[in-house]
Amino acid sequence: MAGIYVHIPFCASRCSYCDFYSTMRLQESGAQYVDAIIAEAVMRRGELRNETVRTLYLGGGTPSQLPLPFLRHLIDGLNDALGLNELDEFTIEANPDDVVPEWCAMLPTSGVNRVSMGIQSFEDQILAFIGRRHNARQAVDAMGHLREVGIDNISIDLIYGLPGQTLASWSDTVRRAIELNPSHISAYCLSYEQGTRLWRQRESGEVKEIPEETCLDMFRTLVDTLTEAGFEHYEISNFALPGYYSRHNSSYWNDTPYLGLGAAAHSYDGRMRRSNPCDIQEYIAKIQSGKVAYEQEELTWEERYDERVMLGLRTSDGVDVDRLRTDFGDKAWRHFTSEAQRHIRAGNLRLSDDGRYILTRDGIMLSDSVMRDLMWDD
Ligand code: SF4
Repeated sequence: MAGIYVHIPFCASRCSYCDFYSTMRLQESGAQYVDAIIAEAVMRRGELRNETVRTLYLGGGTPSQLPLPFLRHLIDGLNDALGLNELDEFTIEANPDDVVPEWCAMLPTSGVNRVSMGIQSFEDQILAFIGRRHNARQAVDAMGHLREVGIDNISIDLIYGLPGQTLASWSDTVRRAIELNPSHISAYCLSYEQGTRLWRQRESGEVKEIPEETCLDMFRTLVDTLTEAGFEHYEISNFALPGYYSRHNSSYWNDTPYLGLGAAAHSYDGRMRRSNPCDIQEYIAKIQSGKVAYEQEELTWEERYDERVMLGLRTSDGVDVDRLRTDFGDKAWRHFTSEAQRHIRAGNLRLSDDGRYILTRDGIMLSDSVMRDLMWDD
């Protein structure tokens, strides 16, 4: 399966916690940037090795900031370069305040069949404090606008561990998210990334970090509430109604090759990791000179083994131990199975009938340390 990721790095403002590559230079660079992505798609289509493109994901940044003529031009250009006629899933990320009727009206004709919305919280005070541009009302309205044009595959992103959040207010956020009937929910624990405004606010004492134990309680509440509501917990941070797993993101977790286009985008072909520069001017200049923009590194055996174990354990499919043995040999199989025994006895892992090692609910709460034990440390 070929999956294409396209990075749209434009944001109207900067959220205080975010360390993703983004820029506010849409006016000056938007048109050139879209042309560069299309040129990069033409240059690199050979990397797909004639595979049919099944998933397309426009992520950011804020793809919903892209003016509609630019978005149409981008989709047409990608279609000409890569062929998008057999897409199973076409996701676009959006901020709720961009999801207005005029924007939604172009979705059905563009081929988009899934929208991932960064709602983050339903507490207006918290949203304003972390620099989000929308409020809870806009998030609710956005869901309605999407449904009016027939988009019912809607994923929403939430964040827990935010300053000012309590266990009770987080519970309320999860409940309100379920009431909106999304097909998919991704929920991430806030992390304080060096260099962000939020990180500086914590360093200066303006913001107090929520204790780790409270964050764990928030995660337990999330898992219990969503599973009771019929969501399947199919990846540590991701929940979906049956039939609505993200196909594109599942390919990352299944260790399947993908092609990433645009500034800061990554690609993986099963052996090489390719990374485009985190600077749109540098990216555009390289592509305009007719060269690929990426730097590449070949993953070592140990790195590929670690990726397989870590990504597999993140999912409810777990690690297929026969496939691990076929791909990495007896040495890897012995290391994995002997370390895994300890965690099976401790109740952190279970072995399925078809030979998959899967984190239990207790194991999910300790996932970092279980993964560390199973990774290669020689
Ligand atoms: S909108 Fe998203 S990418 Fe842009 S600054 Fe906020 S969190 Fe970061």
